[in-house]
Amino acid sequence: MYDYHVHSLYSDGGHFEPMLSAAAEAGVSAVGFADHCNLGGPTGEERARYGRNFDLTYERRRETLSALDNETELTIFDAVEVDYDPAVESEIAAFLDEAGFDYALGSVHYIGDQYVFPSDPFDGGEAARRAFVDDYYETVVSLVDSELFEIAAHVDIVESHPQLSGFTTCEHAEMVADAFERSRTVPELNAGRFEDDDKPASFHPEGRVFEVLLERGLPFTLGSDAHEPEEFAERVPALRDRADRYELELACPL
Ligand SMILES: [Zn+2]
Ligand SMILES: [Zn+2]
Repeated sequence: MYDYHVHSLYSDGGHFEPMLSAAAEAGVSAVGFADHCNLGGPTGEERARYGRNFDLTYERRRETLSALDNETELTIFDAVEVDYDPAVESEIAAFLDEAGFDYALGSVHYIGDQYVFPSDPFDGGEAARRAFVDDYYETVVSLVDSELFEIAAHVDIVESHPQLSGFTTCEHAEMVADAFERSRTVPELNAGRFEDDDKPASFHPEGRVFEVLLERGLPFTLGSDAHEPEEFAERVPALRDRADRYELELACPL
C-alpha cells in the first residue's frame, strides 16, 4: 500500500524515523511526505506560526529524505500539500515548477479567513453555512481545473465540521466529479478524521461526493494524513478495507 499523504516536523507532523517505522509496521510500502505550504492568504507571521512556510525549508527536508531513503526499505516520496487559493495560482505554479516535487496535493483549507476544520467554529445561520459550503465546492472545482496538482486532498472536508456538515448537495458532488473527469488531478481517499470522536464522517470523501466519484469510476490515491506515528495503525487498514470493499481503482500520481 502506498500512503501518499503524511506530514512531518517540517509542518505539523512527527519526526521522520518514528513516522516511517509506524508506517512500515502498519503495512505501508511507500510513504509520501506532503508538508503544508501556504503561499497566500495568512500573513507571513501566521505562515511561520502554523508551520506553513515550507517553501522556505523544502530543500533541507529533501536532504533529510535522501539520507533516510538509503536507510529504509520503504519508498519515500518528496511531496507537498499546498493550500489552494485561486488568488495565488501563479505563485503556486511558480513554486511547484521551481521545487520539482515528486507530486503535489492541493487542499482547500480556508475560504477567506474561515478555516474549514472543526477547530474553527463557524458563526452564522443556515443561509451563511449554505453559502460557505457553495463557495467551498466552487473553490474545489477551481483547484481541480487549475491542473496545478496531481492530487486533490480530502475534497469534502466541510463534512467534518459540525456546523457545516450536511450541506453538501448532489449538485456539489456532480460538479466536483465533472471537474475530475476533465482534469489530470485525481481525488484521494483520506483517513485524516478517522479517530475523531463525535465525527460526522470518518473518511473524505464519504457520502454523496464519494458515491458520485465511485459511480464515475474515477481513480483515487490513498492518504492516511497521519501527523503522528500512532495514527497509522488504525488508518492504514481502514483505508485498505475501504479500497477493497468498493473495488477502488488506485491512481499513480507520479
Ligand atoms: Zn489537508
Ligand atoms: Zn494533510
